[in-house]
Amino acid sequence: MQQIGEHAVVLGAGMSGLLAARVLTEAYERVTLLDRDPIRADGSPRRGVPQGRHAHVLLARGGEVIEDLFPGITGELVADGAVTAEPLVDFRICVGGHTLRPVPVGPSMLQCTRPFLEHHVRDRVLALPGVTAVNGHDAVGLSIDAHRHRITGVRVVHGRDVSTEETLTADLVVDATGRAGRTPVWLETLGLSRPREEEFRVNVQYASRLMRLPRDYAEQEKGITVGAVPGRPRGMGVFAVEGGHHIVTLADFLGGHRTAADEDGFLEFAATVSPPEVLSAIRRGEPVGEIATYRYRSSVRRHYQELSDLPDRLLVTGDGLCSFSPAYGQGMTVAALQALALRDTLAQGRPASRTASSGPRRNSSSIRGTSPSEPTSHFRRSRGGGRCRSGWPMPTSHSCTRPPPSTISSHGSSCGSCTCSTRRPGS
Ligand SMILES: Cc1cc2nc3c(=O)[nH]c(=O)nc-3n(C[C@H](O)[C@H](O)[C@H](O)COP(=O)(O)OP(=O)(O)OC[C@H]3O[C@@H](n4cnc5c(N)ncnc54)[C@H](O)[C@@H]3O)c2cc1C
Repeated sequence: MQQIGEHAVVLGAGMSGLLAARVLTEAYERVTLLDRDPIRADGSPRRGVPQGRHAHVLLARGGEVIEDLFPGITGELVADGAVTAEPLVDFRICVGGHTLRPVPVGPSMLQCTRPFLEHHVRDRVLALPGVTAVNGHDAVGLSIDAHRHRITGVRVVHGRDVSTEETLTADLVVDATGRAGRTPVWLETLGLSRPREEEFRVNVQYASRLMRLPRDYAEQEKGITVGAVPGRPRGMGVFAVEGGHHIVTLADFLGGHRTAADEDGFLEFAATVSPPEVLSAIRRGEPVGEIATYRYRSSVRRHYQELSDLPDRLLVTGDGLCSFSPAYGQGMTVAALQALALRDTLAQGRPASRTASSGPRRNSSSIRGTSPSEPTSHFRRSRGGGRCRSGWPMPTSHSCTRPPPSTISSHGSSCGSCTCSTRRPGS
């Protein structure tokens, strides 16, 4: 690929920052990967990525892109303990009270903890020529040219010590600092416009714990997700990950006041949502780590593409551009698609700038458009009415009232208007 610039700085060494850095090495002589965390080489969970203690599945498309960017990495991840799971075949999915039939529907997903995945990707990025990691440094603002047309660098401080402030000059600055990214504030400080923010309230509270589950269960299935149902706005997931462990994640779609943050609460909550054999495995399992909690309040999209005064040589990627409800496990895959879009732009010989921003945005928005609305909103907004095409009453917009999963037969065809998988009553 043609060289476009001398130095690119990526702010944030999470998944989107790592993938952007990988792509930028093809067009910039030097790439600096800056993070406020003191990142340890052992790949342990870290403060800057609090969601990293909760279940993270890499969807098939995300896996393909990451393999394309780092040939052989999937094999390395699996050799080190990551688990591949084929949706519905060895990964059970229960939606709206129904267990989907175990038929092959597509390529495998990758299951491992988020720090484990990030650690492997990070090792590969840091091994690339021209990449330098700067840890323990906080980005606090942007520098701009006299005409306020072009970003010229980023202001950083060491730790939280403002007396250490310096400016890293760059031909391109990529903000990959996640949901809390401060580019809107930094633009405003420079006298420029902030992007419009579109927010979708979700308010889900997660509680997760790494466990070693008994063999009799672990050998049965590699993963399960159980979605909420009308009258029980709760869900859960159990995923086999590296080290022979499982990550158990519980989700409360009403905002969390009942979510399990302690031993008893965790088990009590699990009992309200887990199928019996899964609950039994959790009860008999051995906790490996502490219970971690996380509140996800809303999905946010920032419309940078609408700004007429957005300076050149600035790009926002990952959750800082658009974050997605964790329920759909899309965030890392979207970050991977954004990296591909960036690579396409660079391959055309164009400096990544506002032009490049529109590529990743297209990808994000098209994926978002295909997502159903958040599960929680069904419970809050819908008062009921209507029937699915199989004839079952639908008290919410997407769930019919078929009998509970235990009674669902494994034959019959989906009605297509909801998630049930058996025949119309009486047929
Ligand atoms: C509970 C939960 C579960 C999820 N499960 C899945 C899943 O199953 N599959 C999936 O694909 N996605 C999942 N996601 C989404 C996924 O975590 C993100 O979409 C993905 O990690 C991309 O994030 P990012 O790299 O943009 O930001 P982050 O991962 O948040 O990384 C941001 C980085 O920027 C650094 N940083 C922040 N501010 C500064 C600063 N001022 N200066 C320097 N550095 C800074 C931080 O230290 C951090 O390293 C989940 C999210 C949540 C909340």
